[in-house]
Amino acid sequence: MFDNLSFKLDRAFKTLKGTGKITEINVATTVKEIRRALIDADVNYKVAKEVTDTIKTEALGRDVLISVSPGQLLVKITQEELTKLMGGTKEDISLKGDPNVILISGLQGSGKTTFSGKLAYHLKKQGRQVLLAACDIYRPAAIEQLKTLGEQIGVEVYAEPDNKNALEIASRAVEYAKKNGKKTVIVDTAGRLAVDEQMMNEISELKENLNPSETLFVVDSMTGQDAVNTAKTFDERLNFNGVVLTKLDGDTRGGAAISIRHVVDKPIKFISTGEKMENLDVFYPDRMAQRILG
Ligand code: GDP
Repeated sequence: MFDNLSFKLDRAFKTLKGTGKITEINVATTVKEIRRALIDADVNYKVAKEVTDTIKTEALGRDVLISVSPGQLLVKITQEELTKLMGGTKEDISLKGDPNVILISGLQGSGKTTFSGKLAYHLKKQGRQVLLAACDIYRPAAIEQLKTLGEQIGVEVYAEPDNKNALEIASRAVEYAKKNGKKTVIVDTAGRLAVDEQMMNEISELKENLNPSETLFVVDSMTGQDAVNTAKTFDERLNFNGVVLTKLDGDTRGGAAISIRHVVDKPIKFISTGEKMENLDVFYPDRMAQRILG
């Protein structure tokens, strides 16, 4: 699918062997390869250019150790830069509140309902009592989908299929949780195919009234630049706390992770890697950097 960057850089750098230092001329040729690899991995051009400019400065004059090839050294520097750009270390979600509310936002089809189930399962495995609240009121199938997932993972789902007021449903779900010893309420919300005013008003109202400990924005990593634009629009309205990248099991390198972080400056907290409930991983910037570079 993709050529291995380390291999390509070694090839581009073979002239350097024996000189012991990375020079301006050598860097110029290889930085182009790095930039292309980043763009191939869906990192947007502007971000890719900024990264490679930093790498250039970092790499110049560095001694090449006998045991490390120049290509390997540049890959290492690139990996370090990408890791830094994605926040450096993993960031946990906040579970403050009794019960705490986690609000799930995003476009329709991004994987919100699936992720809600996965997060419930993830927290349940840590011993937490979780309640799922079905507030995707415009898509009756979403309520059924969440109920099916709930049954599969043994987590209760609060739903009011005939009610079209998301805030009422969510508020009663929180009451229900209090009475029944649930410590976390995960609120699955409605999405549309594109950003629309009614959806934004509804989710903003949920956020203002429910006082969630986390508002997560779910986005399909396969949608490239659109993912970045949608993230920006949602963040302007919602000021979310974290991002969930879905469908990373597909044919994508995950460069969206870098672009989104760069544009909205919010941490990515989870990645979703399949349709099954166990296909959820905590986001580690260094692992993603490795994946992007291949
Ligand atoms: P929603 O409309 O945002 O609630 O999206 P859904 O949760 O219904 O997901 C839309 C489709 O994407 C469904 O067919 C899911 O099974 C699928 N899906 C969700 N997450 C992933 C993922 O990480 N990988 C893959 N391959 N499919 C996913």
